[in-house]
Formats: sequence, structure tokens, C-alpha cells
Amino acid sequence: MKVSRSFSSSCSYSSITPEIAEHIRQTVGEESVITGHEKLEAYGRDATDLIRLPELVVEPQGADQIQALLRLANEYRFPVTPRGLGTGLTGGSVPVCGGVLLSMARMNRILSVDPRNMIAVVEPGVVTADLKKVARAKGLFYPPDPASLDTCSIGGNAATNAGGPACVKYGTTRNYVLGLEAVLPNGERIMAGVQTRKGVVGYDLAHLIVGSEGTLGVITKLILKLIPHPPAVSTLISFFPDLPSTMEAVTAILTGGHIPSAMEFMDRHCLELVGDLLTFESFERSGAFLLLEADGLPVMIQQEIEQMGEICLTHGALDVFLAPDSHRRNKMWEVRKEVSLRIEHHSPLYVPEDVVVPIGRIAEFVNGLPLFEKRYTMKIYAFGHAGDGNIHLNITATDRNAGPRIEQGISALLREVLSLGGTISGEHGIGFAKKRFLPLELSAESIFLQKKIKNIFDPLHILNPAKIFD
Ligand SMILES: Cc1cc2nc3c(=O)[nH]c(=O)nc-3n(C[C@H](O)[C@H](O)[C@H](O)COP(=O)(O)OP(=O)(O)OC[C@H]3O[C@@H](n4cnc5c(N)ncnc54)[C@H](O)[C@@H]3O)c2cc1C
Repeated sequence: MKVSRSFSSSCSYSSITPEIAEHIRQTVGEESVITGHEKLEAYGRDATDLIRLPELVVEPQGADQIQALLRLANEYRFPVTPRGLGTGLTGGSVPVCGGVLLSMARMNRILSVDPRNMIAVVEPGVVTADLKKVARAKGLFYPPDPASLDTCSIGGNAATNAGGPACVKYGTTRNYVLGLEAVLPNGERIMAGVQTRKGVVGYDLAHLIVGSEGTLGVITKLILKLIPHPPAVSTLISFFPDLPSTMEAVTAILTGGHIPSAMEFMDRHCLELVGDLLTFESFERSGAFLLLEADGLPVMIQQEIEQMGEICLTHGALDVFLAPDSHRRNKMWEVRKEVSLRIEHHSPLYVPEDVVVPIGRIAEFVNGLPLFEKRYTMKIYAFGHAGDGNIHLNITATDRNAGPRIEQGISALLREVLSLGGTISGEHGIGFAKKRFLPLELSAESIFLQKKIKNIFDPLHILNPAKIFD
């Protein structure tokens, strides 16, 4: 959705005067500074429609430059917004108060992958898929797998605690961050966390910075846990008459003792958009799609996937299909990955939401979606990580001017999620785009405490201001 907000209203910072720009150049080096309207345009947005050009971009190659930049920012009081690769879905890396955009794209070295200790040490600008490939070549597995993994950075994943299909079995990015190096807003550099599998020494600052969306520190290095790569994977897709029966099957699979390594769903609206990629006849009469995977030893996963298929059939599945080879498997995943792109291109007004409900209440929640569609004249494309109860609600309208009505509809949907014991964001975070909804979920006391934490780290609100809360 095009959001035309006056970003500057809540920001009062020094702009980057020629004098300050010159000082930045001298401090971080001319080769790390990017200026000029055309070049800056590439840094003024993420995957939302929020746009605000930075006044200047710094693209450092080391933590020293970041320390020096943040010291200058405190001296002159200009804001600094960290950016990974700009695939975020909440405007988190959009420099809404102007100032300097700190692009981490050039700090993209995989420093080590150590098979003996099963640890990787990486710079934050590494593309997630690249780390997964390098680990795989050594027989190791880095499980976090956001659908954007070919285009997003590990630093951005850590800052947003990114998830993905594998979370249902393996957990989110936070579960793989053992330790990190960060430059704090005052320019100090700290190491937080450990290089070991465990550690309880003082407060867990590493995991406070993970998920803080670039508001508490700039992550400059990550120590990541790796695990042995599963020897095999088996994939199944299943078509259901409707979404509620799909979700009943999901709950039955999980409560039946199965731990799939992926459990992705799409509703009928989504199926209509990607129908040309589906070669299964049953798709025509189905109302929802479920993709299931099991990984591990070949003999075990074969049995596991068959049992999960049986559960689907007893819960009303119209058909189940096994992917016999990696080619068919890739085709099935292509369908799931393509859907979000098509929704965005298809709809004049589009707002992605990323809610989570307790797994036992998914069916109840999705059952109510048509009522919201009717009441607020909107179309909701639902897909996502069924096994986590993480439902990407892509709310769309055919009329670009429907913004206020859609806003009411979203607010009502989020209240419904909370009344079921859910949360308003499972993996995308709050950033700028969702912060007006924060008080729906967090108490005034919780927000107060979180703002105090921000003030301790960043008393002058230099780092990524106007994100999460004002
Ligand atoms: C098609 C598509 C599919 C997606 N699928 C998923 C998915 O399955 N799961 C999921 O979780 N997300 C998903 N996302 C959202 C997005 O890819 C993730 O949030 C990702 O983690 C962002 O990484 P990035 O490098 O692009 O970060 P950016 O968008 O550049 O930044 C995101 C946030 O992290 C902060 N940040 C970035 N780097 C640093 C750093 N080094 N230090 C401190 N702060 C930093 C920024 O300030 C900002 O607040 C998807 C997005 C798209 C467009």
C-alpha cells in the first residue's frame, strides 16, 4: 500500500550539512560514502512501499568505520539507520528521519565454517543462502530459511529474528545465534554471548540485540550454531476442500507426535493466483494446499511422511502426492514461493500481516476470515507456516482509496488474533509500518520498560529512530 506519511514530523535531527558530509568522508573514507539522488534511491526503501531517501549512504567494510560514524552521529546528532539487503516487510531499514543510511552489504565475508565445533563466524552482509550452501558443502546445516533467503542478509535475519518454513522443527534465527559483535549507538564495540553451545553469564545481551530491529546496536559479526545436515528429505503435498479442514489436519499431525521439517499452507485465493504452476487435477476442486516435509534418515522419513499423508486423508484431504525426486520437490516449493510476489503484483492495495495463533486454534481463526472479508470489503490471501500457527494474511482491496476501511479491518483482525492468545507478528517485526499496533499487544508497562532499555543503549536516539515505538 502506498503510505504517504510525513516522516519528518516526529524527527528532530540535524540534517547532513556539507560540513558534516565532509567530516563523514574524512572519517570513514571517500570510497565508503555514496551520494547523489540516483544512487540514493536504491537505499530509500525496503520491500514495503515506504520510501524516504537517506541524505547520504555509508557502506563500510569494517566495524572501525561504523564506530567512527556513530561517534560523529552523537556529536552532530544525525540519525543512522542500519540496512542489510532491504527485503524487510515493515520499513525497518527505511531512513524515516533522513540522515545516514548504513548499508552492511559490503561486510559480506564468511569468516569461518568450523566442522569440528559446528560453528560459523560471519559478517552481517552475507546472503543467507550463501551461508547455507557453504555449510552444506561441509556436511553442516544452517536451518533458518526465510523465503527471501536468496536476497536477504544474515545480519537482517538476526536483527528481525527471521523465521521460515524450517522453524516448525528447527526454530528461528535466534536459536542459531550463539554470540555476536555489535557496535553500540555510542560507538563502543561489544562482544555478547558465547562461542559454545550454552552459556549463562550475566544478562543475555546477544539475544536482546537479536530481534531488536537495528535499534540497539549494529551487528558486525555473528557466531552461528550449525548442526549436521539431515541426510534426506521427503516431500508431500495435499489438497483439501477448505482451509479449516487443512488446519484440523495440521493440528492432528502435530499433536499426533510428528515433527515435520516444513508445514506450509495456501488458501483458495492463493491457489487461484498460482494455478498455472500446479499440474494436479485435484487443484481445481480444492480450497487449500498443504506442503509437508520430513527430514532425517531415509527409512524413517519414508514412514513419517506416509503417516502424515494418512492423517491428511482422514481429515478430508482430496488427494495427497509425494514428490518422487528433487525436481518435483523444487516445483512444489516454487509454487509456495511464487505466491507472495503474485499477490503483490495482482492487487492495487496490499498490506502484508504476519500473525501467529496457538496451533490448537488455527482452524478456529481461519474459519472466521470470510466474515472479516465481507465486513470490511477486502480480500485476504492466507498462506504461511501452518506448523507454527504463523499465518501471513495478505490483505488486499481493488480500490486504492480503501485505506481507512482496510485499516479498520486489519485492526479488527489483530484484535481477534490477540483474543485467541496469538501475537501480531511472528517474524517480520514491527519496524515503522506496524508500530501503531504495538499497544494492542503490549501493556503500557512493557512499552515503558522497553523504551527505558532503548534509552540506556541510545540516549540521543541516534540509531534507527522512530522504529518499533516513537
Ligand atoms: C518475498 C519475501 C519473502 C520473505 N519471507 C520471509 C520469511 O519467510 N521469513 C521472515 O522472517 N522474513 C521474510 N521476509 C522478510 C525479510 O526478508 C526478513 O525480515 C529479513 O530478515 C530481512 O533481511 P534484510 O537483510 O533484507 O534486512 P533489511 O530489510 O535491510 O533490514 C531489516 C531490519 O534489520 C535491521 N538490520 C539489518 N542489518 C542489520 C545489522 N547488521 N545490524 C543491526 N540491524 C540490522 C534494519 O535496521 C531493519 O530494522 C520476506 C521478504 C520478502 C520480500
